[in-house]
Order: sequence, then structure tokens, then C-alpha cells
Amino acid sequence: MLTQNLGYPRIGSQRQLKKACEQYWAGKIDLTELNKVARTIKEQNWQTQLNAGIDLIPCNDFSYYDQVLDTSLLLGVIPGRYSPVLSQVKANHEIDLYFAMARGYQKDGLDITAMEMTKWLDTNYHYIVPEFTANQEFKIFNENIFSEYNNAKQQLGDKAKPVLLGPVSYLLLGKEKEQGFERIDLIKKLVPVYVEIINRLRLQGAKWIQLDEPCLALDLSKKEKEAFDYAYRLISRSASGVKILVTTYFEALLDNTELAVNLPVAALHIDLVRAPEQLEEVLSLIPDTLQLSLGVIDGRNVWKNDYEKSLALINKAVEKLGSDRVIIAPSCSLLHSPIDLDLETAIDPEIKNWMAFAKQKLNEVSEIRQIVEGNTALLETNKAAIQSRRTSQKVHKQAVKDRIAAITEADATRQSAFPIRQRLHHERFNFPAFPTTTIGSFPQTDDIRQLRAKFKKGDLSLEEYEQAIEQATIEAIRWQEEIGLDVLVHGEFERNDMVEYFGEQLDGFLFTKNGWVQSYGSRCVKPPVIYGDVSRPKDMTVRWSTFAAAQTEKPMKGMLTGPVTILQWSFVRDDQGRDITTNQIAFAIRDEVLALEEAGISIVQIDEAAIREGLPLRKAKHPHYLDWAVNAFRITASGVKDETQIHTHMCYSEFNNIIEHIAAMDADVITIETSRSQMELLEAFANFEYPNEIGPGVYDIHSPRVPSTEEMTALLEKAANLLPARNLWVNPDCGLKTRKWPETKAALINLVAAAKQARELI
Ligand code: GLN
Ligand code: ZN
Repeated sequence: MLTQNLGYPRIGSQRQLKKACEQYWAGKIDLTELNKVARTIKEQNWQTQLNAGIDLIPCNDFSYYDQVLDTSLLLGVIPGRYSPVLSQVKANHEIDLYFAMARGYQKDGLDITAMEMTKWLDTNYHYIVPEFTANQEFKIFNENIFSEYNNAKQQLGDKAKPVLLGPVSYLLLGKEKEQGFERIDLIKKLVPVYVEIINRLRLQGAKWIQLDEPCLALDLSKKEKEAFDYAYRLISRSASGVKILVTTYFEALLDNTELAVNLPVAALHIDLVRAPEQLEEVLSLIPDTLQLSLGVIDGRNVWKNDYEKSLALINKAVEKLGSDRVIIAPSCSLLHSPIDLDLETAIDPEIKNWMAFAKQKLNEVSEIRQIVEGNTALLETNKAAIQSRRTSQKVHKQAVKDRIAAITEADATRQSAFPIRQRLHHERFNFPAFPTTTIGSFPQTDDIRQLRAKFKKGDLSLEEYEQAIEQATIEAIRWQEEIGLDVLVHGEFERNDMVEYFGEQLDGFLFTKNGWVQSYGSRCVKPPVIYGDVSRPKDMTVRWSTFAAAQTEKPMKGMLTGPVTILQWSFVRDDQGRDITTNQIAFAIRDEVLALEEAGISIVQIDEAAIREGLPLRKAKHPHYLDWAVNAFRITASGVKDETQIHTHMCYSEFNNIIEHIAAMDADVITIETSRSQMELLEAFANFEYPNEIGPGVYDIHSPRVPSTEEMTALLEKAANLLPARNLWVNPDCGLKTRKWPETKAALINLVAAAKQARELI
């Protein structure tokens, strides 16, 4: 039985690549230095995998920025706007073209925008979206994959397995940049280049080539299915003598199972962590020759594998296929896992014994094979760890479980319907038409960040730290009063991050020191780990909200992060459903909402920035997800009195197919992003006749540009043409923490003026 890995994290266990790239961009190191850092990471990664006893080890999974962008460069898919860069960079500095495509180029009198970036399927990794034109040509433009394979071969011999995004997924994950064609039709032009690449790798000595086709697990049209068929038939016909492995992950194959198992390739990889139930159907349809790679180790999470569970799946497959047709693997590339648990010296040892990062997951792959081959002692150790987690009181809190078990509809329903609440709010707040507010945070200046760093290091006492934060808060409040905003915020100066701030205060969360995962390019995130039943030992935000409220006569919004967003941006438990964990967080946040109300806060905003990104990959699964996600929000918001006004905020407004669910959240006020689309995205709300109050962002906070009053008034007029003016709020797109004070001040002064103009005009 073979073992394999699909991809390994490339940032380096100390984020060496991030640091080196940023230094290179800043001109502090040269290309030789940068390449040296990259080479060391690659060689170490290969050695780690070799040491773990993995049979097929990926190469070309390394990337300076993003593997999809690498593929675009390999295939010569370079948007025309980069031609001037292409002619300016010297031949040996092709990487500058590459970084220009990723990050934009503002040099030598050129100002070229970066390529678009979007989420890699349902992960928090972002890739650079390929841009296609009607006459798109493909050719081998860049030789990296061949030199990568050569280097890997020297270290790994026949174990070196080049990895490449497959042709169909490459097209489907891209975008048409002009009208009049469908990108999937480019498959006929694209596949011959893949054939050429595969043949070159074969001549270099490659025994296996991995083609990632995650789109094979998505909803596919007839034409897209035909493209898979066409592509792999041609590849198998023209590239004999090398074994092609097609990988799928993050979803079950479902209606694409027959298509997938009948692709004329050597092996197929399926994700049995996300979708263990698909094994049965795959085994029933699999033809006689296909090898099956079983993704049994979770590449997306931080937990130790339950060997008994994995062995049950493996045994089932071996029974049908024989052990020489079965390959054991992680569910997907380990890119999405933190790198090395051994570096975590501060995690409670009991809990650490339940965890595994990328390096440890490789050992799991190899241990499972050893158990299959008879080493049962390894199974016993694993069983003990799994059992300890299953019964530990650190995980299981009966009171939390009881509360979730007893959820009723009343828990998720406000006392009265929105029109009644709205009347009460009018009486209570007496806001003018077009009330003005902001989304929560104010600039996190270097001063504020340094303050926190000093406090964490112990160079500042709690008292000194809090005094300084108080001062920043007071100044922000004075200033908001001065310019005449209607609903104030405290500024969130005390918060590092909108999820971490809450995770640090809730029970059931832990934080790692080095658990970094690449988000995009050189940006990494360090998600909290939810390991146990979640509860709220004490008030989390009351101290700062009440402090702020006491500084002013105006209403002060309490500011919280919603349960789905906290879930989505954390590593979650795999021993219970996401819905259950979300409901636990929902009750903790609900209690915080109530504590704020009790303390006299009249308006509470519960941010749900991530509700849409949690959507399952398959459409058929959307309704179920939306049901529990919306319900969790309603649980947080429904404990309060009718008089209390609940706001929510989302950093986007593309709600086309889910608008009824957004409405079902029943927030009294929702603030969203619309300014960049010139209010176009508001049409979905208009068509739906969205009943509650809404603040379509009139100011794009993602750029330092200061919008004029007239511009914002015009946007408000547009909004008032789409929705009842009495329901409209005036606010920026999102929080202002990434902005600087001067532009923030100028823009908000204009925003307040625009609201005043709108009151007269409309
Ligand atoms: N209240 C948060 C802030 O203003 C919201 C951030 C977000 O939506 N991403 O920073
Ligand atoms: Zn936002």
C-alpha cells in the first residue's frame, strides 16, 4: 500500500517566506537571497516528508505567492496590461512580472492594477484569478515546474511527484475578461499544452504527476463534465508512460462520481474527511484498474486523526480493491494546516495530545500504513488520545450542552415584529431621517498597536495600557460628537482582531504561538482553536462600551462579533457539527448582548462578516447551512427587549440568491458594502422589498481616497430610489481600522454633510 502527500505548507515554520518576500519587495534583499530562502524551505519540506516515510512526495507545490498564479505563468496567461512590465524586467527577473500580476505595479512611470484575488473554494486561502480573453493562447511560458522537478528528483528520486492545477479546474477558477465566449471552450487549446508539459516531465523521469481538479467535486454543467472527459482522454492518449493522479477535495463527488471514476487515469484521490459517505458509491462504480487515494487525514484542521475511523474506511477499500490499489493520504494539500505542533510549548499538554499539525499529519499517514501492516501498538496509543478527548472535562461542559439541547423557537424570535420595534425605536431615539453612524473601528494607528505590543511584553502595566486606550476612546468620541454623527462607536482601540478578542475571553478556545496559515501572498493568519464547549465566564465588552457610553449623551453602539464569523475564522471541533458549535457561541454572544442591554446600552451591533463565505460548495446544501447560520444569529439577537435596536454588518452585499435569508436574520438595521458597485447591489434588496432598516455604505474605506459630499449624496439619492427613504442609514462600507486619521476625518465630515443634503432633497 502506498502513501502520499498532496502538498505541504510553503511559508516556513517561522514564516521565513513571508519575511523574505516582504524584504525583497522593499528592496532590502536581492533575488539571490530570496531564492535561497525558498530553496531552504523546499529542501526542508522534502526532507520532512522523506523522513516521515511518504512514498509520493509533491514538488512544484511551493509558490512565492500563489499556485494558481504560478499556473498562469507556466501557461503564458498574462493579461495584456502587463506587457510594459514584461518588456522592462530583465529576463532573469521574471519574478518581478509575477509579483506585478499579484500585487500591481507602480514603478518606472507605470501604474498597473493587480489581478483579482478570490477565495480558494471554501477555504480562507486566496488565489489570483486567471484572466482569459476570447482569443486566449496558451504556451509553455515559464520553466519553473521542470527545474522544480529536477531539484526534487535529486533529493527524492522516484518519489518526487510534480503537482499542477488540472486544466479544467484552471479554466473554471478563472474569469472571462471580455464578452462573447465561455472560458470552458478554451479547453481544446489548453489541453495540448498540458500534454506537452506532462511529456516533458515524463522524459525528465517523472513516474507520477498529480493534477488537482477540485472542481470535479462542484456542481457542473453538461459542458463542464464533457470538458473533463475530453481533457483526460486526450492526456491519457498522448502522455503514456507516466501515471496521472487526479485529486478532488472539499466535497463529495456526488453526481460526478461516474464521470470521475471513469477518467482514463491511473489514480483518483477523494476527500473522505469532508465526505466519508462517498466511499461506498465510489467503490461500487470504480473500474478494475483505477487506484484510489483515500484522503483520511484532515488537511484543514488541527486534530489528531482517529485511526480506528480511518482504518474502517481503508479496510473497506482494501476489501474491494486489494491493498496495491489503495493509497493513504491527507484529505487535501496540507497548505491549510499550521506547520509544526512541536513548536507549541504553551498549549496545555492534555489538549496538545489531541492535536496534529502538518508535520504530525505526515506521521499519521505513515503510522496508519504501519498499523495496516500489523503494528497494532500504534493503534493503542492513538486510541488512548482519542478516548481522552472524548471524555475530557476540558471539552465537555454539561451545562452548555443542556442549554443547546433545549433551544426553542422563542430563543430565536424577537418579542415583537419589526414594525412594532421600529415604532418603539423612533420614539426612543428620535433620529433624523438618514441617521449617520460608522461600522465600529477607528484607525488602529502605530501608537495604538505599539501600546498593545508593549502591554503584552510587560513593558506597560494594565493600568497604563487602559488609561491610554481610554484616552484614545475619549478623543474619538469627542470628535464624533463634533462632526455630528448620530450614533457613536467607541472605536475598538482595545481590540487586536474581531475574532481573537472574543476567543481570548471565551472558554473552549485556545491560541497557538506559531499556528500560521497562508491567507494570501505573504499574508498569514493564526486562527484560534475551538477545542471545547463554548461558554462565557464573564462580561467581555461591557467595560469598554459602558466607559464610552458614559462620555456622551448620544447613543453608543455596543460592538460584537457574530457566531458564524467566530466559527468561520477559527479551527473548529471535528467531534460535533459546526451548527452545534455555532449555537454554543451564539448563546455566549446572546448573554453578552443582554449584559450590554442591562448596562444601559441601547443599540448593539453584531457583525456577521463571514456568513456568506460559510456557504457550502454545492448549491443543494445551501438551504440547510443558511437555516442554522441565520438561526444562530437570531439566537444572539433575540434575548433583548423590543426597545433595543440590533444592528448587523456584512463587508459585502452580493446577496443575490440568499437575500431572503439575510432578511430572515431580522436585524433592525443592516449595514453593507455598496459604494464600489454604485448601489447596484442594492437592487437585490429592492426587488425583495427588504423590510427592515439598511445602511448601504456610501464611502469605500478600502482606499485612502476621500469621497466628496456630492458623490455620497448622489449615492443616497440612488438608494432612496430603490428603498423607502425612511429605512435608510448613512455610513461607510466597513470599519475604519486600516485607514489613517486625516482621510477618515475628511471623509466622515463629508458623509455627515451628505446626510444633511439628503434630508433636504428627499
Ligand atoms: N466592527 C468591525 C470594525 O469596524 C467590523 C469589521 C468587519 O466587518 N470586518 O472593524
Ligand atoms: Zn465590514
